[in-house]
Amino acid sequence: MKFAVFNYNGKKHLGRLVDNDTVLECFDISESVFKQDGVVSLIDRPLPNVTNKIPVSDVELLAPVPRPRRNIFCVGKNYYAHAEEFAASGFDSSAAKGAVPEAPIVFSKLPETVEAAGTAIKLDTSVTSTVDYEAELAVIIGKSGRNISKEDALSHVWGYTIVNDVTSRDLQGYHSQWLIGKSQDSFCPMGPWAVTVDEIDLADTSIKCWVNGELRQDSNTGLLIFDVPTIIAAISNGITLNPGDMIATGTPAGVGIGFNPPKYLAAGDVVKVEIEGIGTLENPVKEI
Ligand code: MG
Repeated sequence: MKFAVFNYNGKKHLGRLVDNDTVLECFDISESVFKQDGVVSLIDRPLPNVTNKIPVSDVELLAPVPRPRRNIFCVGKNYYAHAEEFAASGFDSSAAKGAVPEAPIVFSKLPETVEAAGTAIKLDTSVTSTVDYEAELAVIIGKSGRNISKEDALSHVWGYTIVNDVTSRDLQGYHSQWLIGKSQDSFCPMGPWAVTVDEIDLADTSIKCWVNGELRQDSNTGLLIFDVPTIIAAISNGITLNPGDMIATGTPAGVGIGFNPPKYLAAGDVVKVEIEGIGTLENPVKEI
């Protein structure tokens, strides 16, 4: 199943997609219940009754998890070809340990970075002009756990969505730790909706990204260096994961920094990320 959070007739709603993702069934659930959590409020509760149906074209989509409860966990350098391109870029403060990491590199993004599909990625050139896109599959945790084994890991997953792990390359390199370069305002477009685990085959799901219609990233989740169970086992090693926690699993090769010269995002650009089984996340870039 696919679930979305959206504005319609001046009110926020939570609903389920039907009819080939063209229609939203509105759930009978108060905005006060799901406001911050979005689809996370559906975890461990029977699906609410449907009140009415609305064409997707008539709504304004919001991020499926409008404000994650805590920082989004993110994995760096998690596809082989991207690990090579990033290590060669000169901005990789972890490159001294080699291009391909021996263990998952985990950083985080602030919850306030989350933006909806269609919302602008804000380009503040007084802060940075090296803004890059990163198409990623994001995991939504559904069951809490600590020291989760790889074998049990997928039983802790509620579903998946798409994120664009937008990054300032100069800030990422300058500060060594990646949080500032990854957490600039508006740097986590998410959506357009979230899907339950049965919608995705982790071993074979295509992930693509276009900038202004030019295909830049074209890969498959089967090519992850550390797969989703390995990532969950690593992050939960001494850290309790909670329902609603989110993990961005890393981006494939083809980011802007991988080109010579680099192809950074500029005002007026449109970034489109597509993951098979989920949908398409499209965001314009606007200078502020
Ligand atoms: Mg990333």
